[in-house]
Amino acid sequence: MSGAAVRPGERSSEEGGTPPPERPPFLLDFFPLEEANETRLARFFEGLREGRLLTTRCLKDGSLAWPPRTVCPKCHATALEWIDLPRSGRIYAFSAVLAGAPLGMEADVPFAVGLVDLDGAPLRLFGRIVGAPWERLAIDQPVTVEPFDLPDGRVFYRFRASS
Ligand SMILES: [Zn+2]
Repeated sequence: MSGAAVRPGERSSEEGGTPPPERPPFLLDFFPLEEANETRLARFFEGLREGRLLTTRCLKDGSLAWPPRTVCPKCHATALEWIDLPRSGRIYAFSAVLAGAPLGMEADVPFAVGLVDLDGAPLRLFGRIVGAPWERLAIDQPVTVEPFDLPDGRVFYRFRASS
């Protein structure tokens, strides 16, 4: 019997292999789980790794969903297709986080978050806005959607404003 404490899902050092990267406690983790064995939306994250912004469209009624779904929110159909979204848009609204940042983002304060209307798609996305200090952001300012890598190997998206 080993004396080393091993948390569920972790390998002990005696089993060999590399320990998994550190993740914040699940309920405080701002970013979703991304692997195919963790979510049926893994294709979305694969798309980000390819530089694409994907979402789902219902094959029955044609409605677009954001975020991507496994069931159509309007008609409950499960036959959905993945489609590419535009990667440019304009700021609809924004705010600055000056205190109380989510776990792992404390060192980034102050930073901006906002709602972005995609060009040519009836979707409004929420996310972090980088590329310019929050004091220099403006309503209707153009931004691009930018995938970025998290330290633990996951990927997510953010918006980049031209400075
Ligand atoms: Zn539908």
